[in-house]
Amino acid sequence: MLKITVWNENVHDRKDKKVMEIYPKGMHGAISDFLSELPDTEVKIATLDMPEHGLTQEVVDNTDVMLWWGHTAHGQVADEIVQRVYDACIRGMGLIFLHSGHDSKIFKKLMGTTGSLSWREMGENERLWVVSPGHPIAKGLGECIDLEHEETYGEFFDIPEPDELVFISWFKGGDVFRSGCCFKRGYGRIFYFRPGHETLPTYHHPDVQTVLRNAALWAAPSTKVDNVSCRHVMPREEIDVNCDDD
Ligand code: ZN
Repeated sequence: MLKITVWNENVHDRKDKKVMEIYPKGMHGAISDFLSELPDTEVKIATLDMPEHGLTQEVVDNTDVMLWWGHTAHGQVADEIVQRVYDACIRGMGLIFLHSGHDSKIFKKLMGTTGSLSWREMGENERLWVVSPGHPIAKGLGECIDLEHEETYGEFFDIPEPDELVFISWFKGGDVFRSGCCFKRGYGRIFYFRPGHETLPTYHHPDVQTVLRNAALWAAPSTKVDNVSCRHVMPREEIDVNCDDD
């Protein structure tokens, strides 16, 4: 059983009429619906306004893969919860960062960089080119994904060199962007996926849904590791403790 938790700050989704029209159940509702199509999978939702942002220790311990959508309320996420998610990730939990999640506390903590980029909101055409056709996250896609309108992100994107790069975006205004980036931190797999601006129906696009289903499978831990703290150990063989170099 693959256990997924979709986390959304759920702010635009409750206040912005346009977002409410496109995503009546919130972006987290739309995302959890198409992830639930994966076989043998349980999808749960967590939002900022829940106690402990919906990410209690019990919830995090029972999550194999977490998706993270945040934008306007990054600063409201408690440092204690960020540390909890971080600890889970380096012990093996998968994390998928969506769109403006590049500026979240947890993304920047895991990357060790500012996550900054250039942007504009002009509804340009975005074309995501598959640059790793054999990658599990690109399974079932053509050579590119065409999104009629999206917010534009441009380089330079301040991230560490990705371990694997799956998509590069082109925008009609001329910008390019590394929009599908894989990282490993500790035992956890991390995927950053660029599109997903709240006022556009990006999460209803079938190719975007395919990418995120694939990414959930890719990020799922093969094992979770508890024993990563420092340990004082005794020698396994008898040794001469009085060794003298003279
Ligand atoms: Zn946006």
